[in-house]
Amino acid sequence: MNRRLPIKLSELSELFRTKTLDPLSVTENALALADRLRNLNAFSRICSSSALQQAKESSQRYRDGKGLGTLDGAPIAVKDNFCTENVHTTCASRMLENFVPTYDATVYARLKQCGAVLIGKTNMDQYGMGSGTVDSIFGPTKNCWSDNLDGKDFRIAGGSSGGSATAVASGVCFAALGSDTGGSTRNPASYCGVVGFKSTYGLLSRHGLIPLVNSMDVPGIITRTVEDCVAVFNAIAGPDERDSTTFKPPFKQIPIPEADQISLKGLRIGIPIEYHCPGLSNEVLETWTKVADMLEDAGAIVKSVSLPYTSASIFVYSILNQCEVSSNMARYDGIEYGYRSDENHSTERLYARSRAKGFNSVVKNRILAGNFFLLRKNYDKYFQKALKVRRLIAEDFTRAFRSVDIILSPTTLSTAPRYDEFVRSNNRDQCAVQDFCTQPANMGGVPALSLPVRLSTEDKLPISLQLTAPSFSEQNLFKVASWIENEVQFYRHYAYS
Ligand code: GLN
Repeated sequence: MNRRLPIKLSELSELFRTKTLDPLSVTENALALADRLRNLNAFSRICSSSALQQAKESSQRYRDGKGLGTLDGAPIAVKDNFCTENVHTTCASRMLENFVPTYDATVYARLKQCGAVLIGKTNMDQYGMGSGTVDSIFGPTKNCWSDNLDGKDFRIAGGSSGGSATAVASGVCFAALGSDTGGSTRNPASYCGVVGFKSTYGLLSRHGLIPLVNSMDVPGIITRTVEDCVAVFNAIAGPDERDSTTFKPPFKQIPIPEADQISLKGLRIGIPIEYHCPGLSNEVLETWTKVADMLEDAGAIVKSVSLPYTSASIFVYSILNQCEVSSNMARYDGIEYGYRSDENHSTERLYARSRAKGFNSVVKNRILAGNFFLLRKNYDKYFQKALKVRRLIAEDFTRAFRSVDIILSPTTLSTAPRYDEFVRSNNRDQCAVQDFCTQPANMGGVPALSLPVRLSTEDKLPISLQLTAPSFSEQNLFKVASWIENEVQFYRHYAYS
């Protein structure tokens, strides 16, 4: 196939409808590209035969002009912590290396229903615990913007959904699902120069998403453009009887924003003072200021807001994360499913050895810490207290959103670090830096989106900003994101063949 592939999903659908392209050749192309780019390690599994089958069915639907879905024929990828029927779902962990689910996660089932073609499952930090895609049994994912992909000084893709961000940024897929507990969709999106979105908690079903922190997990969407993000969100959002935490009223489809029709007159944009933090690079700060000025010039009211509990957020997140992790991981006992050790001369030994060998040290550390915080003598001191401070962090947003409509901040403090430098610090220290701007939104349950803005002049890597909105204000969030995107047009970097 030598035709230039379009950047956006809507353009792809149009080319399918006019028979200029057909889903089967696009899928073949995506599979070939995924194979050529194996060195990036974006995928934990490529689903060639099922993808070709799905694509053939899609091609047939276009020929018949019947039964077409909104994403028909679009190549997509799904993070390896979403259950996919008959397709290995490993969480990049030895524990689940051979796990083949018998059902689809709701969000993937809905994508399938819309005709999307699953190219593969994507690499991640084990169980989503990380922010680099560096702690995986499949090895690290490499950022496709790296100046050097050999050796160990490549740039990290960010994490924990680094495989999903890379699958989209490298051109293999038009969209990918990530998961976002503390920033795992927005962080890699920021480093890989793609759009990364987490919705209001409860708008996207968690059924079939292997849990990390149930009270904060949300499926995330990664695309090259805001418009595509809205299209995917519309395809998968809404109540699910299999997830009792989904918001019950029917989901109202969000209109695709038309960037040149958007007026920012009177829109109130908040700049959180606490996000001017140590470690913020000059170029990110400069980009942040520039975009704020652009918004102001277009008629928005830009003002400072305070989110005073921001500095407590990392500690609170870490305690709550570890408590929920220790409970979630209890199911992996080597008996029902998952890795089983052959040292089984007693049940206790079997449990202990299966867990010792099945989990990496990051998972084990979090289980131990979580159990410590949940001990009767520590429960009030740590867990209860963390819950109270979490409420204060959520209230920071509620208060700020009384005087502004959108909060504009960095997503990450710098461009993507080099792998060899990144892994010099441990997982906890990595997360403290990487999640600084992203995890408060998970504690507040509010929607947030990372938008690529420009390439750094220093290292030619993507710089992104984050937009955060009140719960259920996705439409406004997409509107502002779309306006900025139209000004900066970062997606033009994806005009490849
Ligand atoms: N870095 C955070 C953690 O390790 C966030 C992970 C995520 O969002 N899945 O917990």
